[in-house]
Amino acid sequence: MSEHPVSRSTFDQVMVPNYAPQSMVPVRGKGSRVWDQEGKEYIDFAGGIAVNALGHCHPVLVSALQKQSEELWHLSNIYTNEPALALAQQLIDNTFADKVFFCNSGAEANEAAFKLARKYAFDNFGPEKNEIVSFTQSFHGRTLFTVTVGGQKKYREGFEPVPGGVVHTAYNDLDALKSVMSERTCAVVLEPIQGEGGVLPADADFIKGIRELCDQHDALLVLDEVQSGMGRTGKLYAYMDYGVTPDILTSAKSMGGGFPIGAMLATDKVAKSFGFGTHGSTYGGNPLACAVALEVIKTVNTPEVLDNVGNKHARFRKHLDAIQEKYGIFKEVRGKGLLIGAELVEDYHGRGKDFLAAAAQEGTMLLVAGPNVLRFAPSLIIPDEDIDEGMARLERAVAKVTSA
Ligand SMILES: *Cc1c(COP(=O)(O)O)cnc(C)c1O
Repeated sequence: MSEHPVSRSTFDQVMVPNYAPQSMVPVRGKGSRVWDQEGKEYIDFAGGIAVNALGHCHPVLVSALQKQSEELWHLSNIYTNEPALALAQQLIDNTFADKVFFCNSGAEANEAAFKLARKYAFDNFGPEKNEIVSFTQSFHGRTLFTVTVGGQKKYREGFEPVPGGVVHTAYNDLDALKSVMSERTCAVVLEPIQGEGGVLPADADFIKGIRELCDQHDALLVLDEVQSGMGRTGKLYAYMDYGVTPDILTSAKSMGGGFPIGAMLATDKVAKSFGFGTHGSTYGGNPLACAVALEVIKTVNTPEVLDNVGNKHARFRKHLDAIQEKYGIFKEVRGKGLLIGAELVEDYHGRGKDFLAAAAQEGTMLLVAGPNVLRFAPSLIIPDEDIDEGMARLERAVAKVTSA
């Protein structure tokens, strides 16, 4: 009998069964370490699925949240508020964008982006120009529109009919894209690194080529940087590495450092199509969320944080190479900055979740990206000792799984 009023078994009694959480219940986190109900400690290589960009309970974020919590929690968008304005200003000052729309999640940011792309085309070119082109294996969220634009059938199945006017084509294949684009195309949407799809980075030539094709067809380039953004790749946003500028960009996950927030960034020209009354969100621009996100961007967008992401990537890779040398379980290790994917060899296909569970038992929190890829998306400021210790534990987990 557990002394805790709620436990993992409560989950099966009270929760819709759409998740299957691990057996322990985490109760506390500090930096890149987490403790469960029994007091057992874990090294966090998951960062809450690429969310806790500054680890757990970073003092600067805690203090921003505490301060804001005693000033103003919520207003609605009938009024504006200081944290939202300051955050929007930061985003604009540090990116291509001229205008910002706030919401509460990645899916909502993408929903806004897709609606804006349609509306912009409608306003400027008429109703026939409504087709959104996206890529197989892509992930853009779980609302009906975003699972439709997303390139993974399993997230759509059973939920049809889905919205029309969406076309999928192969990622990193410019010729395939060319053949599906037309005067009907209003936008091409992509993740600079496909996250959920298996940690697959786009080729630089691919993104450049998409930009050119979009310009030729009067289509907008929409970058979904929900996972790749806010320092994850070592740049504030991943597009900054490609010499390509989007028309619309979506951000969430790391942006709030663990507090729910999403944003859609756009150029002035495009943003105009979201005129008064066209779109909205009750909580979008919530002062608590914006006060925290403001400190996240101010902390992340510094050389001390961004310039170290590459070093930490190298440290992860060194450990993964060592594990590979000993156990030969990886087909490929890829990714950028602190979004790293290790694809399992065929013998271990479908076993990603077994490695994840074994790692949790040994005291390391991991992620998977699909059934065959182990994914690492830790805090951008994870201490080197924590990388080393978490990897030692992961190696013990690998030894267990491979000898079983
Ligand atoms: C996680 C994710 C989303 C969805 O974000 P939510 O906050 O879960 O709605 C959208 N796009 C990408 C690339 C993501 O990784």
